[in-house]
Amino acid sequence: MVRLSLKLFFLFAGTIVLLSTCKKDEALIVPEERSFPLVDQRLWPYFEAFESEAAARGISIDLVEEEITGVIEAIDEEHVAGQCSYSPFTPGDVTVDDEFWNNSGTNFREFIIFHELGHCYLKRDHREDSDNFGFCKSIMRSGVEDCRDRYNTQTRHTYIDELFFPGNF
Ligand SMILES: [Zn+2]
Repeated sequence: MVRLSLKLFFLFAGTIVLLSTCKKDEALIVPEERSFPLVDQRLWPYFEAFESEAAARGISIDLVEEEITGVIEAIDEEHVAGQCSYSPFTPGDVTVDDEFWNNSGTNFREFIIFHELGHCYLKRDHREDSDNFGFCKSIMRSGVEDCRDRYNTQTRHTYIDELFFPGNF
């Protein structure tokens, strides 16, 4: 049973790669949504948003070229919504906890995925400091310190500025 589902998964993954290859050719004529062959398709809008938020700030980022991967699966450690692992030999693997994913809206998902790409792509460490009201200055906070999150549609722009230009904050 397990073996069968694994096989199906690989078939499915193979299909995605093929499809994305076709899409690439078509994109020469009609620009389409970007595809990220190494990333769970549910994460694509967030990966694309990360690139376009960078582009809007004059930074060119190609997560496909960087071979950043992304999966949604159970993270055993409690209260961990996402993680990034990278080494000199692997470019960066983003994991989003499936339970977190199922119970979160777009905003919180973006927060976590941008945080992990902050580690995996920008190679940022955690930043724990807070403003005068106790709100975290950065979405790169670890979540285990005192500052409180305030990532929403109003604050999003500033938090993303901080993500790409931490020295200005
Ligand atoms: Zn982190």
